[in-house]
Amino acid sequence: MTIRFYNTMTRTKEEFTPLEPGRATMYHCGPTVYMQASIGNFRAFLLGDLLRRHLEYRGYEVKQVMNITDVGHMTDDDEDRGRDKMEESAKAERLDPLQIARKYEELFFKDVDTLGIRRAHVYPRATEHIEDMQEMISVLLEKGLAYEAEGNVFFDISKFPSYGKLSGKNLDELVEGARVEVNPLKRDPRDFALWKVDPHHLMQWDSPWGKGFPGWHIECSAMSIRHLGPRIDFHTGGEDNIFPHHECEIAQSEGYTGRSPFVRVWLHVRHLLVDGGKMSKSLGNVYTVPDLLERGYTGPEIRWALMRVHYRQNLNFTMKGMEDVRSALGRVRECRSRLEDIAAGRAPAGADPVEEMCAKAGEEIFGSLDDDLDIAGAQAGLFALVSAANKAAPAREGAEAVLHVFREVEDVLGIPGPAPGAEGPPPEVVELAKKRAEARKARNYAEADRLREEIRSLGWKVIDTPRGPKFSRG
Ligand SMILES: [Zn+2]
Repeated sequence: MTIRFYNTMTRTKEEFTPLEPGRATMYHCGPTVYMQASIGNFRAFLLGDLLRRHLEYRGYEVKQVMNITDVGHMTDDDEDRGRDKMEESAKAERLDPLQIARKYEELFFKDVDTLGIRRAHVYPRATEHIEDMQEMISVLLEKGLAYEAEGNVFFDISKFPSYGKLSGKNLDELVEGARVEVNPLKRDPRDFALWKVDPHHLMQWDSPWGKGFPGWHIECSAMSIRHLGPRIDFHTGGEDNIFPHHECEIAQSEGYTGRSPFVRVWLHVRHLLVDGGKMSKSLGNVYTVPDLLERGYTGPEIRWALMRVHYRQNLNFTMKGMEDVRSALGRVRECRSRLEDIAAGRAPAGADPVEEMCAKAGEEIFGSLDDDLDIAGAQAGLFALVSAANKAAPAREGAEAVLHVFREVEDVLGIPGPAPGAEGPPPEVVELAKKRAEARKARNYAEADRLREEIRSLGWKVIDTPRGPKFSRG
């Protein structure tokens, strides 16, 4: 078995050979916790989850690290003149920046669990690694790869000739990319900040260069080295991280350790579009996981909607797509529950052979994932199995064999998950339904209707059946 990945650095698909046999280390650029992460962010996080699950399925021992950025980022990519997002949120919500960070970190983990993302082994926080960053900056200064200017420290691009190799940008493009209002303290417009001085910044730390705070990129270099060592197998992120963020990480990490390459395989997720266009606040189409839960979709449905398109293709998110996902996952569940009935002797068994069908499905599903996580191939394999199994009347052992493939799929892809509504309504909905039943008994239909609306506003539907009320999502 060979596993291959498209490496952004070499722009080719390469066979994966780990740094250490049987092990794989991975670092994922995580959330900046100043607001609720969008489904676009989660598309990138789900790539990390799929990568890990598939490698574990193939027998690798994985160590996974995802940073939590709780030091302010700039509102513009232009770090010289942008405003700090963490501080803006803090002001808007009348909390201090660390309170903001903890609040949104908690919400992030809630979404992680909703989507069935396996928790990384370490979630280092930037604010807890300031010393590591300062140590790294000191070494870069000692090595002459960085320079100090009025309390700021900048990385000196002229000392790192391979800068630009990941994004493939040439010198002019790099200068163009750094064009806006160049900080006069920089020797070259492409130089980037490792340590910054700004007395108005709310978060400040003492340093050998004076009070200040770390630059945008140094945290990922410092935290990946701290938790995974000088070199790692995988680094993932969104395609907008390639430049400047990952380009700067390479310069910092390789400059500091003197070892190259810092990362064996770079994987980058393409954009998520909504209704064919960009997701943006001004268009009001920025969806979060709770937004979709409120519309009645389940965690596994949202997960599959964000995962089912290959990570190197744009994913166009639509509500119609959510409905397609719902029915597709429903088909898998129906097939599975019929087989469970056969396996348990609750439904009549047949004698159709299924071994070949199972082997073919396994090969198609997991063999596709070996090829740069080809999710389209995996999906085709899964639904071919569903169709074939629906037509077959297997023996009890045969049903069990197909169920085994479904369990492996659930383990790697995290689907289909429980049916919508199967997890049951929360207690307040049950309480409202009780009151509604009483109102109906007392023939107070106006009150019963009002309570039905209240239940609906909580994302649930109540249906009266002869055996009492039944609940469904929506
Ligand atoms: Zn990063």
